[in-house]
Amino acid sequence: MNNVSHIPSYLSAEHLGPWETYLVQIDRVEPHLSAELRPLAPLLTRPKRALIVDVPIRLDNGEVAHFEGYRVQHNLSRGPGKGGIRYHPDVTLAEVMALSAWMTVKNAVVNVPFGGAKGGVRVDPKLLSMPELERLTRRYTSEINILIGQDKDIPAPDINTNEQVMAWIMDTFSMNEGKTSMGVVTGKPISLGGSLGRKDATGRGVFVSTVEAARRLGMQIEGAKVAIQGFGNVGEASARLFANAGAKVVALQDGSGAIANPAGLDVRAVKAFRHQSGSLIGAPGAETIDADRFWRCDVDILVAAAMENQITASNAGSIKARILTEGANGPTTPEADLILQENGVTVIPDVLANAGGVTVSYFEWVQDISAFFWTEEEINARLDRIMREAFAAVWDAAQAKGVVMRTAAFVLGCERVLMAHKLRGLYP
Ligand code: GLU
Repeated sequence: MNNVSHIPSYLSAEHLGPWETYLVQIDRVEPHLSAELRPLAPLLTRPKRALIVDVPIRLDNGEVAHFEGYRVQHNLSRGPGKGGIRYHPDVTLAEVMALSAWMTVKNAVVNVPFGGAKGGVRVDPKLLSMPELERLTRRYTSEINILIGQDKDIPAPDINTNEQVMAWIMDTFSMNEGKTSMGVVTGKPISLGGSLGRKDATGRGVFVSTVEAARRLGMQIEGAKVAIQGFGNVGEASARLFANAGAKVVALQDGSGAIANPAGLDVRAVKAFRHQSGSLIGAPGAETIDADRFWRCDVDILVAAAMENQITASNAGSIKARILTEGANGPTTPEADLILQENGVTVIPDVLANAGGVTVSYFEWVQDISAFFWTEEEINARLDRIMREAFAAVWDAAQAKGVVMRTAAFVLGCERVLMAHKLRGLYP
């Protein structure tokens, strides 16, 4: 139910693909850009280049199947492209465009020297065997070979891709080059040039940014009630970190359904149960709840760590949390953003909250290039510092300009991108 009257109908969730969400976000940011950079804003509203590839693979039964793949480089003004690769049956070009654009802004917000890129294959990887998944990954890598490289565009994991997939990408690219190129991809296994701390990095950034927000709002993490949507890499790591800090993870939701325990779920036990059964439902010490109850949960903190378009006009008004932390990319529609703002919910936007992943990807890339590896303590300390500094910059700008944190983060990120573009000048 839309309880905010002044929202134009074209902003309703039904009409908003992720790319349109991104364009509305840019629209809202434009008036706040400096007069010097505002005329350059159209640069942000289109990707620099997009590649669509056919990925044919031989299935185990001998038949050939075709999958559609994409790699989009949204902007390269600040450095090589950077952003993950997603395997999902709903992946579209428009979605990958949006994800690549959010990477441009995110990389600028945490000030890592990368542009924004993203890739995806429209496939349900759960329906493929391991050898089929490997063939898909190797063929997709060969098809996007013309775009990627250590100093051109560096992929990483995203939904349904993991260390093993990154190892196959590194190997395929390296075989084509005739030399081992560790820095072409991040999120690799530790034994192949991966970085300590990378696996938990996004969840850690979600946790650190939430702690920073809580402190400024006068809230305690110890004893705080937390609900988390998504129990993949990001949701699981942040649940564990909140529980370790004495917060109570009272509700979890993933593709299998939602569970709750007002006294706090045993996150490790739920993880073990889910690993074994593939579902949250039936986890020890948890009652099953429906989606409506999940969104209505009486919590202090809500972490959205699933996918785009989850918090819409239909459920935003139900959210009781004081802090909404976006572990996923684009979980909140522009219409929902206005409702949350009216209800006084502090939204820590994706381009800040989930930037811990790409920050440690940057560390991994630096370690690979220099062939010198850091300790986990060094990595976590540097990550925490970057997250805290970026959070403070966004928070302070939001206060100074009287805007929400998403707008402040976009102004910070977009101005860095546009300034780089201006200084480089227009070619030719
Ligand atoms: N896929 C992650 C993201 O959305 C990580 C990207 C990276 O490490 O390059 O931020």
